[in-house]
Amino acid sequence: MFEVIYIEKQLLDHPRVLAILAKYPNSEVKKIEKIEDVFGRVKKPYLQKRTNLNLFLGEKKGQLVKLAPPAYGLSGEPHYYFVHAYNCIYECNYCYLQGYFHSPDIVLYLNHEEIALEISRVASLFHSQKPSQKIWFHAGEYSDSLALTSLSGELSHYFKLFKELPNCNLELRTKSINIKELLKEAPLENIITSFSLSPAHRIKLNDLKTPPLKSRLEAIKQLHLSGFPIGIHFDPIIYDDQFIESYEELADQLIEALPAESICYISLGVVRFTKEVFQKVQKHYPDSDILAQEFIRSFDNKIRYNRPMRLWMLGKIKQQLIDRGVPEERIYLCMEDSADDPMVKSHD
Ligand code: SF4
Repeated sequence: MFEVIYIEKQLLDHPRVLAILAKYPNSEVKKIEKIEDVFGRVKKPYLQKRTNLNLFLGEKKGQLVKLAPPAYGLSGEPHYYFVHAYNCIYECNYCYLQGYFHSPDIVLYLNHEEIALEISRVASLFHSQKPSQKIWFHAGEYSDSLALTSLSGELSHYFKLFKELPNCNLELRTKSINIKELLKEAPLENIITSFSLSPAHRIKLNDLKTPPLKSRLEAIKQLHLSGFPIGIHFDPIIYDDQFIESYEELADQLIEALPAESICYISLGVVRFTKEVFQKVQKHYPDSDILAQEFIRSFDNKIRYNRPMRLWMLGKIKQQLIDRGVPEERIYLCMEDSADDPMVKSHD
């Protein structure tokens, strides 16, 4: 899978690095000083991820935990994210990553102990002011949170950490069905695995190389039956002729896998792009039916359906979920106000 594996020199003997190398005996290995010396230095076309993918292993430097933009998750609670990976093995044709880095190569940061310390520091600072308020942390801002966990092996660090931080929630957001590593852990109330779902035909059209809906629902069911808390994202929601029926069917399928009262939360977000990402979609997927949709440049310069259309779509789906027993207070609308953030997180 990886043509070249670049490793920061101080990690050459790291047990995780050795375990990764053992999985890819045919990859060429190159020692580097720092990931930034090589990753993205020469622009690599995004679609080369189909045929030529390299892996970088290193340590994340700089700010390890960042405050997430407003309107990021459940409102009224502060949200932070931490970065332990760049890029993704999947190829959703709306993905904002295609406009983000100069390279689609995968980067895994392995200094989870340092990231964990920083999470604890941020949490304790926050709770010194507001001891009883919940804080959210999100993994996988620039990647899928579960897809590569068998390789990166970080979940056990975060389960250990969040067991000690009962006033903090961790969200693992994914389209993957790679739940093997999760199932090795004892479920915690404050670690929520959240799955992004779309109607089956939209997954085939848009979420290229991702597991189909049926497999994602099976993974959800298995995790639920094993006691893991589950969140759901219907995001990005894309309009087509079958919009109402296909979301009705999706709601039915979801409730069959995960009873309505067991859904921790469900977020609804209509497809949206920055101008740059939209141009990348035009370039990389010229035949996609997304491009035939009627979008406008909206108040914040993002490209999306007009506001009445967005509200109609969100309202329809919200009602379908309420009709199936999902408590209204657990449904939230994602990025639908002027507090929209410039990062346009529209994935997983
Ligand atoms: S949208 Fe998410 S799952 Fe899809 S390619 Fe991007 S990061 Fe990966």
